[in-house]
Amino acid sequence: MMLLKESKGMLFSTEFLLTIILLVLIIGIIANLMDRTDEKILNSMKTNNLESYSSKVADSLINSPGSPENWEKLSSFNNVIPGLSLQNENKETILNTISFKKIKILTSNYDTLITKNIFNNEIKSSIAIYPFNTEIEPIIIGEEINNQEHSTVFIVNRTVKCDFLSELAIISFNNENYNEDYLNSLCNHDSLNNFSHESTENYLWICNEFKVKRKDLDYNDYYLIFDEESINIGGLWILDNTKRISTAENHINNVKIDLNSYLEENLENNSELIFYLHCKVPSNNKNKLNYVLVAIPKEMEVDNLNFPYFISQTCQFILKTTYY
Ligand SMILES: [Zn+2]
Repeated sequence: MMLLKESKGMLFSTEFLLTIILLVLIIGIIANLMDRTDEKILNSMKTNNLESYSSKVADSLINSPGSPENWEKLSSFNNVIPGLSLQNENKETILNTISFKKIKILTSNYDTLITKNIFNNEIKSSIAIYPFNTEIEPIIIGEEINNQEHSTVFIVNRTVKCDFLSELAIISFNNENYNEDYLNSLCNHDSLNNFSHESTENYLWICNEFKVKRKDLDYNDYYLIFDEESINIGGLWILDNTKRISTAENHINNVKIDLNSYLEENLENNSELIFYLHCKVPSNNKNKLNYVLVAIPKEMEVDNLNFPYFISQTCQFILKTTYY
């Protein structure tokens, strides 16, 4: 009897123990499931936020000059909210048009301006600008984001215009913008009987005047830069000035012409002069002629700069974001 009693007690305690173990197991599983659901909700909240936030950041970068507007001229960027858009002469923002100068400053201060000031050091990001014209190098700045390394990468893609170095152009002749006004442009040869630059049926003259001060030569180098397509189409150019008229024609057979020694020589005894650039092109090739006359700051490397750098270019603007 005693044995039976004892075994009954043992049976009871084993059942009890099993129940407790099962209960603990069930509670554990439920708790685990709840944890995972929480994590999932949290992740999707974060994901949705970053997706819409990235989109807002991209739109604000391309449609606002930033705060303050001229932040690129400051020496410290701690309190700057960066924006890249260009403004017209009335200080109005030009939508979807970004400043190459601001991009340059952003490149060397990305950690402060974007990672800290925009993303509060919580988001990894990069910005890429791909010009449609492949003669210009793409600009890729920020942190490297590898799609394989990160489970969630957001990509915001916008089409923008970038001014590149167009503000360095003193004269810009682009056949796409050609209009009849060019035919009426002033020319210092108009007073010469035999060397008038009036356009004929066969030839088109495009004449432009520009002023250079002697002290400008201390800071800038001057180049006449032709588009590749303008070479060997039978075009000619003449450079002269109000004090020394020239009829010496040069063939357009080189994309980059250094004008410095000519300008130095003519400005030796003058503090400033009005120069004239005359270009003559056969009428049937006028849609192939493109050129700029540029003043490039002496500290800038000119070897890789070709014609497309001196006109505004359409580009893809790509912002990539992910969590660290
Ligand atoms: Zn002329």
